[in-house]
Amino acid sequence: MLPFKLIYSDAYYLPIGDHVFPAEKYRRVRDRLISTGVADATDFLEPQPATDQDILLVHKPEYVQKLKTGTLSPREEMEMEVPYSRDLADAFWLAAGGSILAARQCLTDRVSISIGGGFHHAFPDHGEGFCMIHDVAVAIRRLQRDDKIRTAMTLDCDVHQGNGTAAIFAGTRTASALLPSSSVSTVEQPANAPKGGRLPGKIRGAHAGDVYTISLHQHNNYPLFKPPSSIDVDLPDGCGDDDYLAWLDNAISSGLRQFEPDLLCYIAGADPYKEDQLGGLGLTIEGLRKRDDLVFRVARARSIPVMVTYAGGYAQNVEDTVTIHCNTVIAAKEVFAPA
Ligand SMILES: [Zn+2]
Repeated sequence: MLPFKLIYSDAYYLPIGDHVFPAEKYRRVRDRLISTGVADATDFLEPQPATDQDILLVHKPEYVQKLKTGTLSPREEMEMEVPYSRDLADAFWLAAGGSILAARQCLTDRVSISIGGGFHHAFPDHGEGFCMIHDVAVAIRRLQRDDKIRTAMTLDCDVHQGNGTAAIFAGTRTASALLPSSSVSTVEQPANAPKGGRLPGKIRGAHAGDVYTISLHQHNNYPLFKPPSSIDVDLPDGCGDDDYLAWLDNAISSGLRQFEPDLLCYIAGADPYKEDQLGGLGLTIEGLRKRDDLVFRVARARSIPVMVTYAGGYAQNVEDTVTIHCNTVIAAKEVFAPA
């Protein structure tokens, strides 16, 4: 039995037909975790869908109404890049409910993983990039409303920048002081940063309010327009394990010097993988596992509850995506094992 809960439902499946997003990955992750003995059936909790009231803590009433009545314009549906159906909307409401449950659960168990979610490209008034509802933002706002947390930090390690997250939490920023990390010159370059040839990685910083947002992503990738997160790390094409881990360590340290979150929301995208069809970074499966390990070790050392969502993963071989997502559970199991 795991020392924490996995949040999962068969209804996480996204009914989007033949699509680059492997909608069946959630069930395959669950099956693999059980068949390999990493988890057993008692480790899983089944979420309830978020309520409309929860969704409205983040999303605009007009947008929610369109989703409930199937009245998105063709342009809005095209921008979402998944075919609208009422069933698909239900799956996103459930993903948001799963993230709320994961956020609650980690407050007592130190960590919780939703085998789904991480729809970080959803904005208050529109969806894009396969994302309809921003489940992580809904979870943060719901726990704040319930007075379970005051502050949160999002740590987005999907290969694509968390534009929805940045936009949703930009409006709540208060202070305007820049971070020490706001210019490249004040940030220690990783010792092994590539010299010449490729573009160097860049770390950009801004201020934050009650939610602090960190995104590590490939610079030359979707979204074209990247609204500023509290910290953005723009990684060069082909960035490998060692450089990536150094940038990640640097970004987390910078963030936690500036901000003390009551909750860490780790968006553990599998798409920084070198064989991803929609990504251009160069991480190995082992490197991605070290990434997860680093995040969990920091959270444990600082006693920050951490909830995990899965976001993207488009490996040429879907089994690799499943392996990367399963490894996140294995890393948490090792780090949070009872002493
Ligand atoms: Zn992605």
